[in-house]
Amino acid sequence: MLLLKPDDAVLFIDSRYTFQAREEVSGIRVQTVAGGLLRAAAEATLRIRRSGRISLAHEPAHLTVAQKQAIEAVTKGRLRWVAVANLVENLRAVKDPEELACMRQAADVISGVFAEVLPIIRPGITELDLAAEIEYRMKRRGASGPSFETIVASGLRSAWAHARPTTKLLSKNELVVLDQGAILRDYCSDMTRTVFLGRCPGKVRRMYRAVLDAQQAAKNAVRPGADAAAPDAAARSVLKKSGLARYFTHSTGHGLGLEVHEPPRLGKGEKTILQEAMVVTVEPGVYIEGFGGIRIEDDVVVTSTGAHDLTSASRELLEL
Ligand code: ZN
Ligand code: ZN
Repeated sequence: MLLLKPDDAVLFIDSRYTFQAREEVSGIRVQTVAGGLLRAAAEATLRIRRSGRISLAHEPAHLTVAQKQAIEAVTKGRLRWVAVANLVENLRAVKDPEELACMRQAADVISGVFAEVLPIIRPGITELDLAAEIEYRMKRRGASGPSFETIVASGLRSAWAHARPTTKLLSKNELVVLDQGAILRDYCSDMTRTVFLGRCPGKVRRMYRAVLDAQQAAKNAVRPGADAAAPDAAARSVLKKSGLARYFTHSTGHGLGLEVHEPPRLGKGEKTILQEAMVVTVEPGVYIEGFGGIRIEDDVVVTSTGAHDLTSASRELLEL
């Protein structure tokens, strides 16, 4: 737990992290505590000023009620709680060159894994088995793990935008949505591809083309100075032409970095202005209950000339 004070910062750790902190932390004080991190941080907060109220910023989305109560048990009414949202995440939205290098590698890992598993995306393998193969191959390529639980959703389940893999077998004439990401040197990638097992019917082919066109339109709207609602509007207007807009039930993308979901969100009503060196996903999808779903997702970096793809696996409709 890190306490940022007006003039310095203290990192509170327990004894499990003493050696690691010596290796990895520099420039701030590290304090190993025995009686709980919250208690130590609360006591240190009180020492900032001998009397009067002390302002403590906190992120309501990350501090639990129990944690807040544990701090208040020590500070006893001396804190003025200031709720802030995305204070740290907003600082992270624009990536520095070193971060971009990591993210490029994380994207390369997942693009490479997808190419590697293509031969085993076949009828007869279970969704869980395929997800395990994907995660195993990430690690073989140096990833510390998946950036979220890998999604393999086949057949009617492909219409569940956030399906978890099951023991269901992939079978012929089905859509399969594969959403996967790797963490490499702490940075996440996040990529979705949708394939068809067998010869693709015309309706699916048209849907796929519409989603791919929507994705390209959204990418074209990603540029410095544009607001984060523009790519979403661009994707929706393409899907509207094919009568598919109502099946696109989530926002077009999200920021990506140390976490797999970070600001900015690319969605309706977003006011954030896109800046160079932000990294976002572009992932329109259509999901039709009782039929199936299609999503195509890439990670892009905002450059002076527009969106530049980090993930590179083929986006053409694959009939396997
Ligand atoms: Zn994804
Ligand atoms: Zn995503």
